[in-house]
Amino acid sequence: MAWGIGVPAAAAAVTIPFAGAALAHDGAANGSAFYVAKSGDTLKTIAARFLGNADRWTEILSVNSGQIGPDGQPKPGQRLLLPETTTSTPAKTYAPLPAGAKPAPVPPEGYRLEKIGPSAYGVIVGAGQSVFVVTRTGVVLIDAPGTFATALPAAVKKITDKPITHLIYSHSHFDHIGASSVFGPGVIRIGHEETARILKQNADPARPVPMVTFHDRRVIEIGGEKFVLSYPGPSHESGNIIIQVPGQKLAALIDCALPGVASYQAFGTADSIPGVIRAHKELLKLDFDTFVGGHWYRWGTRNDVAESYEFVSDIWNETAKAIAATPQPPFFAKVEPGNTWAALDLWLDALADQAEPVVLAKWINRLGAADVFTRINIRVTAVSQRVDQPHDL
Ligand SMILES: [Zn+2]
Repeated sequence: MAWGIGVPAAAAAVTIPFAGAALAHDGAANGSAFYVAKSGDTLKTIAARFLGNADRWTEILSVNSGQIGPDGQPKPGQRLLLPETTTSTPAKTYAPLPAGAKPAPVPPEGYRLEKIGPSAYGVIVGAGQSVFVVTRTGVVLIDAPGTFATALPAAVKKITDKPITHLIYSHSHFDHIGASSVFGPGVIRIGHEETARILKQNADPARPVPMVTFHDRRVIEIGGEKFVLSYPGPSHESGNIIIQVPGQKLAALIDCALPGVASYQAFGTADSIPGVIRAHKELLKLDFDTFVGGHWYRWGTRNDVAESYEFVSDIWNETAKAIAATPQPPFFAKVEPGNTWAALDLWLDALADQAEPVVLAKWINRLGAADVFTRINIRVTAVSQRVDQPHDL
């Protein structure tokens, strides 16, 4: 009995008074409590009333998965299970990770090394990912994340004595190429020309500027293995490329689609949110079985990319619907004249209030942590829609 609010442990359901609302206790359903929704209730108002925190509405959505309609809100008369709780938990809580997003055991050496193609290997440290391909003449690295300085050379040594000859940069971010300098000045670094420009400006000795660059597409053959590099335009970052290794049935697109997990805050400070969606589309035109997203605890599949594309498209489309349904002038009337930011803050909140439940009703148990950043990503997407106005999505 977790409720501590004087509910008798009866065998039959009983109704008790609670904060002015009717909470029932269903003895037949393992002692879980439930609430029958009334007209005007939202998951947020129910969470505020029974869980003591409106932000815990995603937990109600999670335990009633499949029962909530596509609008993400309860219907009057609907019986909702409530998560076990006390009413005095001020801490922020989150929906549990679905099976496909949970971490796997890490061996004592501190990293996971997995064969992900005929001669391709994946290394996972924490929630970071890197790949290397063993060719006839040497080893080609795809990214060298900042936290992989020890693990990546050790993992390569476990598989082969061949030298590391090339390092392909997916993009400039430190959490993907911050260990580049560890491999010495002799390694040939390859990346997009925008990545070279960004790294030149940053002047970070840990991330040497790539000496081999390209504009749209470049096929590089190394030791009998083909690496097809293509640029879908600015996305998560300008210069972020798609790396396809046809002989390994493998493709990498970093920080746009992630296997089994929802997008990071602001899509990882994306340079272009429409570009993130476009990059998914370009990737799905290619032939591959194994997908490398750059983060999380497992390697992806083509289906993971298709799911991610559907998820980011849902965020985009639900945000557009919310904008169409929510004129701005009433929000300007609520704030001090001239405080445009305050009015837009209220407007963005209203958009998120409308779009977030719809997106989460579909995704909360399909992608990990969908409840964490979807709200902020709807707000960021709304700003993008007003300024970018793409006509190709
Ligand atoms: Zn990044």
